[in-house]
Amino acid sequence: MKSCKIGKKNLILLTVDCLRADHLHCMGYSKDITPTLDTLAKNGIMFTKAFANAPSTHYSMPSFLSSTLPPVKKQPKITLAGILKKNGFVTAAFNPNPIVFSKIHCKIRINDGFDLYDMMLSSRKQYNLKLEFLRSLIIKYFRDRFEKNKLIDNSSYLLFNYAMKTIPNFLCTRQHLHIPSAEEINQKAITWIKNQKQRFFIWLHYMDVHEPYAPLDYNNMTEMLYLITKYRYFPDKITNKENQKLIILYDLEIKYTDNAINNFLIALKKLKNFDDCIIIVTADHGDAFNEHGVLGHGFGSEAKVYDELIHVPLIIYGLDEKNININKQVQLLDLSPTICELLNISKPINFFGENILFPIKEKMIIKSEYYIAYRTPDHKLIIPKMDNEENELYDLKRDSEEKINIYNIKQKLAAKLELEMITLLQKYKKKTEVLEIKNKLIKKASS
Ligand SMILES: [Zn+2]
Repeated sequence: MKSCKIGKKNLILLTVDCLRADHLHCMGYSKDITPTLDTLAKNGIMFTKAFANAPSTHYSMPSFLSSTLPPVKKQPKITLAGILKKNGFVTAAFNPNPIVFSKIHCKIRINDGFDLYDMMLSSRKQYNLKLEFLRSLIIKYFRDRFEKNKLIDNSSYLLFNYAMKTIPNFLCTRQHLHIPSAEEINQKAITWIKNQKQRFFIWLHYMDVHEPYAPLDYNNMTEMLYLITKYRYFPDKITNKENQKLIILYDLEIKYTDNAINNFLIALKKLKNFDDCIIIVTADHGDAFNEHGVLGHGFGSEAKVYDELIHVPLIIYGLDEKNININKQVQLLDLSPTICELLNISKPINFFGENILFPIKEKMIIKSEYYIAYRTPDHKLIIPKMDNEENELYDLKRDSEEKINIYNIKQKLAAKLELEMITLLQKYKKKTEVLEIKNKLIKKASS
């Protein structure tokens, strides 16, 4: 591909929390729920094998903004926003996800380099510690009661949900939690763009696809409340049929977000010359629906590293190239260096990634709290932190769903991939992880 350096374009980054690549119609999903993203892909470049380097927000966002392997423990010298600001961009983010501001979960200042970082707090109800404590007591009471009396049925969950409603600050649906909707984010973003005279970078992060899946247009409110309550408090009790219904709710949220992106683009067209903008769409990670015994995504041992949690959409619109699908494996860690290249800005030395529009090695590391994985286009090697869990190896060409663990059958291949993984970790300066893996492999060899 020829160089795509673009003179004076603005940059618009749209990220959708929890959006799986395989739920986009243009990626082969049977339901036609993403007409806007499909059109952007058709008029731009779509990467069909783009992967996040982590299955959760607090690991993934700091990673792709600083082009560093997660977890990012030290404040990077400069992030994407910082380097753009240094090069004359006005920078703004509208991101209501609170997790990246929790010091326990995120060690860096994610807002570094942004002239404006809006968490959309004015659109939320205030968090109240006393009510939160009361809520936890009530949840405990009902959980114990349900478990003891085996009252796991529809009416119990509804009762539980209605009990929750008695506490003003807590209800199960997103509307009640009042995480700002995509349309609320759009409104703020468009107002900001309207006032910009200078070249700008704007990042919009949409939360609607994140659980609780509470689409406004689902026709059975009672069923929806039941499903999302059970999902949140009794995930292990979700049946296959309920899982299928949860996917319907998830898809309706995708459809809503896709439509909101369309509305944003219509409003943008009225303000700015559309051709003066590069628009990038991606997600921080995917979401699981029991493919490997886990619902959603999250923390600790729940944060697995299978493809349903890391395969994300990646669309670049606004370059000369149109209707191009790129099928090589790329990682989000490479996003910031690619943006630098596109905008004709030198890549900062602390960015580890490379420009994905040029030939790359197609090898990557995925990291969560308890798992570390090495992915090539053909294989995935997973090394768990816990001693009681087996190492895993999957042949992705034959077994794309990662169901048949061949680690013990293909030991030579596993050893080769382990070495490659360690070499790549060393390149990313991840000494602790290298030691962890070496120790784990020594233990395994001697057992
Ligand atoms: Zn997320």
